[in-house]
Amino acid sequence: MRLLVIEDEPDIASALQKGLRQVGYAVDIALDGERGSELALENDYDLLILDLNLPGVDGLEVCQRVRAECPSLLILMLTARSRPDERVAGLDLGADDYLVKPFHFAELTARVRALLRRDLRSFAYISSARTITWDVQLCQLCVMLIWRWHAASS
Ligand code: CA
Repeated sequence: MRLLVIEDEPDIASALQKGLRQVGYAVDIALDGERGSELALENDYDLLILDLNLPGVDGLEVCQRVRAECPSLLILMLTARSRPDERVAGLDLGADDYLVKPFHFAELTARVRALLRRDLRSFAYISSARTITWDVQLCQLCVMLIWRWHAASS
């Protein structure tokens, strides 16, 4: 699994990178929204951890840009406790979940796992729905062939 962390505080960014690598994820970091958006659009990430308060291009704009180009990329936002309006705006712009700063690393990894699991489940659901459709089509084809064979032989 490959993750991108966009966080402008270098200490937090490198701590997140180190911790997430230790639990088995490949992790890239970007320290501003401009570079973060570029990386998110250039590479194939499974999940984006996005700080909302970034200098220049802020987290809401990053969320909007990335969501427009990569509809299936999972986005977990990091927000300040004092700004519920930002959390609402972030979710409205397509973030999948949010975590309020300061947070425990264990909670972050739990949310990352939950999001990735949810994604796998929806993929499995779509795959099984396709299999069922295919089975129904095969069945219809068999019935049609038998009917034709009967019609031809009578
Ligand atoms: Ca920040």
